[in-house]
Amino acid sequence: MTDTGHATVEDCDLAVIGTGPAGMAAAVAAAEFGLAVVAIDEQAAPGGQIYRNVLASPVAGTLGPDYRRGAELAAAFNTAQGISRRHDTTVSMITPEGEIVLRRDDGKIVLLRAQAVIIATGAMERPAPFPGWTLPGVMTAGSAQILLKAAAVVPADGVVLAGSGPLLYLVAVQLLDMGVCPGAIIETTPAANYRAAARHWFGALRGAATLLKGLGLITRLKIARVPMISGASGLVADAGSDGTLARLKFRRGAREYSVACRLLLVHQGVVPNTQISRALELPHDWDDAQRCWRPRLGAWGDTTLPGIYVAGDGGGIGGALAAEEQGRLAAFAVACNLGCIDKYERDRRAAVPRRALARHLAARPFLDALYRPGDEAVVPTDETVVCRCEEVTAAELRRGVAEGCLNPNHVKTYARPGMGPCQGRMCGLTVAEVIAAARGLPVAEVGHFHVRQPLKPMTLGEFAALADAMK
Ligand SMILES: Cc1cc2nc3c(=O)[nH]c(=O)nc-3n(C[C@H](O)[C@H](O)[C@H](O)COP(=O)(O)OP(=O)(O)OC[C@H]3O[C@@H](n4cnc5c(N)ncnc54)[C@H](O)[C@@H]3O)c2cc1C
Repeated sequence: MTDTGHATVEDCDLAVIGTGPAGMAAAVAAAEFGLAVVAIDEQAAPGGQIYRNVLASPVAGTLGPDYRRGAELAAAFNTAQGISRRHDTTVSMITPEGEIVLRRDDGKIVLLRAQAVIIATGAMERPAPFPGWTLPGVMTAGSAQILLKAAAVVPADGVVLAGSGPLLYLVAVQLLDMGVCPGAIIETTPAANYRAAARHWFGALRGAATLLKGLGLITRLKIARVPMISGASGLVADAGSDGTLARLKFRRGAREYSVACRLLLVHQGVVPNTQISRALELPHDWDDAQRCWRPRLGAWGDTTLPGIYVAGDGGGIGGALAAEEQGRLAAFAVACNLGCIDKYERDRRAAVPRRALARHLAARPFLDALYRPGDEAVVPTDETVVCRCEEVTAAELRRGVAEGCLNPNHVKTYARPGMGPCQGRMCGLTVAEVIAAARGLPVAEVGHFHVRQPLKPMTLGEFAALADAMK
């Protein structure tokens, strides 16, 4: 280790980015081979999205068995020998050679040089802009869950949930368990999705546990008499005289409805967080079933760059249990490539995780078809703000197309979407969908923003420290 006084340079065998189920399982499995592992996460503790704060959450007892299951994995991760755990630490930059710039919350910069990297950065909620989504009082269901898990903060009454996807029901049930009864759940799942999903029903039975969990959630909500209104479209969040959210308006068929609310939790499913795989310029494919991009991966999570792997939801949404198995498989591949085991041993160890993975993924085609967002959810109306950082509306994007912009990078220079602090993480998918719809092309042909590093803002002082460390 070299300490320049401003930044440090460190070496390790394996860097694992993200300590959700995929990252924790990968780090533990790799450390068992004697590899020097550095596990990095911007959160203060291991757990990722699903098991956020699982070892210390004041409400762990009420968040259900799926959440508590994570405590075992997190404890194994925290006690494993050979893992250097770096929390409150963000991966700001990365090179194809495995050089990673870490920015610690205390302002310290670390340049980590890893022989192998497993990217386990998970999922993010799909941004699905609609008129009024930027009003105070509108947030995503996932962010309400973060407040719940991290700080036991729950909303007062007057909560309405809207959108589509299993997390919508899960958050509603978790609120019920905390004594908050949602005023309504307004579902936007398109009617045609039920027919499309029915085709996958028999295959999904192999993953019956997942389906039963979903049914259990819906039953809980029905027993609690939470009004569930399906077939909704045309969501509009409307402000009262104080400028904050007052009501949600929506349509069902030709009729218009309005429901009063002080807090609106919206959700349209989750999509892979591809910021790091994009920054590495790995090939990505458009996944039409989930309407999102995913990095092109081999059977071990391997990418086109030697030594760089992707595990978990960052490679395609599969859920926490699948993420865990994918983390183990990637760790076995790294151990094999670094000479700890031969291919025979790698394949022998992989047999059980592979069977489990197939079981955990069995219900995915059914879920993907059922909760695939409709056009209306991902291609917003003209007046809707798409890029919150730069306040760019869908109309401005369409104007860009009319003026000759062909793809998100052209529109970026024309109207500045994706140029703000989030660097297009939030608006990237919507920008591509709007351009594709305007040009009458599949999103795959329109492409995605180039991701510029640093992935999250760094100060000039931090850049200077990094430059010193690299001398
Ligand atoms: C908001 C939200 C809530 C969810 N809640 C649930 C739930 O309650 N139940 C459920 O079954 N599924 C839930 N999911 C789906 C769930 O995230 C996944 O199925 C599962 O957690 C995937 O595990 P993973 O290890 O792939 O990634 P994750 O668990 O998402 O872990 C990824 C980790 O990477 C870290 N990370 C990302 N980028 C960086 C970076 N640049 N630098 C450092 N660290 C980084 C993140 O902080 C995170 O801890 C949720 C998803 C989201 C987006």
